[in-house]
Amino acid sequence: MTRAILHVDMDAFYASVETLDDPGLAGKPVIVGGTTGRGVVAAANYEVRKFGVHSAMPMGEALRRCPQAICIRPRMSRYQELSRQVFEIFHEYTPVVEGLSLDEAFLDVTASLRLLGPAEGMALRIKRDIRRHTGLTASVGLSQNKLLAKIASDLNKPDGFCRIGADNLRAVIDPLPIQRLFGVGPKTLVRVQAAGIRSFGDLRQASDETVWRLFGKEGATMRARAAGIDDRPVIAERDEKSISAEETFAQDIRSQTQLLAHLTQLVDRTGARVRAAHLMAGVVTLKIRRSDFATFTRQQTIEPATHDTATILSVAKGLLQGWRAEYPDWSVRLLGVGVSHLNPATQGDLFAGETIKNARQDAAVDQIRQRFGAKVIVRGGLLPTPAADTKARRGRA
Ligand SMILES: [Mg+2]
Repeated sequence: MTRAILHVDMDAFYASVETLDDPGLAGKPVIVGGTTGRGVVAAANYEVRKFGVHSAMPMGEALRRCPQAICIRPRMSRYQELSRQVFEIFHEYTPVVEGLSLDEAFLDVTASLRLLGPAEGMALRIKRDIRRHTGLTASVGLSQNKLLAKIASDLNKPDGFCRIGADNLRAVIDPLPIQRLFGVGPKTLVRVQAAGIRSFGDLRQASDETVWRLFGKEGATMRARAAGIDDRPVIAERDEKSISAEETFAQDIRSQTQLLAHLTQLVDRTGARVRAAHLMAGVVTLKIRRSDFATFTRQQTIEPATHDTATILSVAKGLLQGWRAEYPDWSVRLLGVGVSHLNPATQGDLFAGETIKNARQDAAVDQIRQRFGAKVIVRGGLLPTPAADTKARRGRA
C-alpha cells in the first residue's frame, strides 16, 4: 500500500517568530543568533538570505555580507512555546509524528486518509491551522516517503506546498542538483561532479562502475535515493514499544571521544534493560540534539535482532560517526540511544552462534550489577565523564 507522508517545515522559524512579536521587523533583514564574536547564525529570514547569509554561518561573516542586518538573541522558550502549539496541530491529524527539530516534522497520515480525506487536503488544512493559531507560515511536502516529502517541502518555500507522486516523480527530482541529495557532502560533491554527475537523474542512470567508484558499498543506497526510493518508517516520538536512555549534558560536548564514551554508557544501560525484559531488538535509534536545539534521529535495522550490547554499540557508533561527518563542527546538547522492534527472546536466540561470547559477557555483567549495584563495572573503553543530568526512560507498555 502506498504511504502518505508529509514533511512540514516552518519558514525561517526563529526569525519569523521575532517578526511576529515585533511587526516593525517586517520586510527588514533579520538574523537570530549569538551576538558575540564567536556566535553563529541560528536563523536568517528571507530578506537577509538574499545576501548569502544562512544558518550555521559565523555571525562575523554574516554581518560582513549584510551589515544592516538586525541581530536578535534567540529566545528559546518562546520558540518552544510556539513549537508545542504547532506539534499539537500535527497530532490532530495523526499520532505518527516524528519531530526533527522545533520547527520540522514528518507525519505519516496514511491511516488518517479514510477519516480525514485526501492527504493534499490535510496538508493545506495543516498550513491553514498553523497560520490561524500562531500567525506563522509553514511549507509542506507530500509524497510516498520521507526522502521525497522532505525534498518537496523545500521546493516552493516559503508558505509552499508541493506534492511528488508517481505522475511527476521523474520530472521533479531528475533535474535536482546532486548536492541536494542526502549523503553528498562538500568533499563527495567534488568527486561526483568530476565524474559528470550533476543531477539526481545523472546518478540514477550512471553506470554501476561509476557508482561503485564514487560511493563504494553505499552505492546502491545512493542510487536508490537519487531515484526517490526510501523505506524508512516515520517513528512517532511516543513510540511505546521502545527502550531508550538519554542524557542531557551539563555542558554541550564537541569532542567525539567524549561523545563515544557517553554513547557506550547509554548503550550499556539500554542493552541491560532489553535483556532484563527478555527481549530482542530489531532497530537501533540514535538521537542527537545540537547546541542550537535542532534534533536529529538516525536509525538502523539490526539483522538478526539482538540484545547484545556490543552489537547495539557498533551500530550506534556507526550512526554517530555518520552524523558527525555531516555536522563536524557542532556541539551536542543531548545524546540518546533507543532500541525498538522488540520481540520476545527465545532460548535459541540467547546463545546463538557468533554472539555466544558477547552473551556470556553481558550475562556476567548483568549478574554482578544485580548483586553489587549498577556502578561497580565500567566497560572497557569508557572514559570518565562529566556530571550530567541523566534521565533514563523505559517506555514499553
Ligand atoms: Mg524550517
